[in-house]
Amino acid sequence: MRLTILGSGTSAPDGARNSASYFLEHGGVRMLMDCGAGAVHALARFAAPWESMTHIALSHYHVDHAGELAPLFQGLKYGMSRPRSEPLLLMGPVGLNRVMQGLEHAFGSELFRVKFPFETRIIAPGDVVALDDDTLFKVAKTPHTEESVAFRIEAGGRALCYTGDTAYSESLSGFFADADVLISECSFEESREGGLHLSIAEAGRLAARARAKKLVVTHFYFHVDEAKLITELRSQFSGEIVVGKDGDVIEIDD
Ligand SMILES: [Zn+2]
Ligand SMILES: [Zn+2]
Repeated sequence: MRLTILGSGTSAPDGARNSASYFLEHGGVRMLMDCGAGAVHALARFAAPWESMTHIALSHYHVDHAGELAPLFQGLKYGMSRPRSEPLLLMGPVGLNRVMQGLEHAFGSELFRVKFPFETRIIAPGDVVALDDDTLFKVAKTPHTEESVAFRIEAGGRALCYTGDTAYSESLSGFFADADVLISECSFEESREGGLHLSIAEAGRLAARARAKKLVVTHFYFHVDEAKLITELRSQFSGEIVVGKDGDVIEIDD
């Protein structure tokens, strides 16, 4: 499995960090995970094979995770270097139809009439979707918005997990159990009472409880001092730690 970080940031305008977006490749699977501001041009900048993407998976409908869907489809419709016939499946939690209808209302339904098979699928916690013959995509609820979910992608005995946006949850550590790579949001320096995101310590604790091998932190609503961040995570988590940056490629050997 190979994951390219297209956006390691949040909704805060940032010269180096796009809003949340990732590109996962394994076998015949090429999946865009979340599609926040900056994702579309980052696909080209970081040489992701976007023209042949097979899946799009959205974790929830905050704009920093889903706001570039319309520009993405404009690119798929008018910006391709070659015609494609491979199908594309857009997956998202409940609310996907509302979002798509809203975009069609705003920009015209023609935008989503692409010249290749395109379908949408509502995903729910507990779902297991076969992305291809040996790649499974699993879904769990996160405490963030009414619809928000996390992902677990399994292939060849390996697992890559993505928190999407979430508050701390013990049950999520079970969903992420023994992940080879956990891509975790890490929004705040300190935990906040009733907060809907993870603090540094909570991201570290979640990875430790999950017994993840590698923790990749992203989605920072604070100025990142990398050495300080790693030290604080290290107090909770003893595995490998990566402070995610746009353009980083995370490889998991089969
Ligand atoms: Zn977010
Ligand atoms: Zn969010």
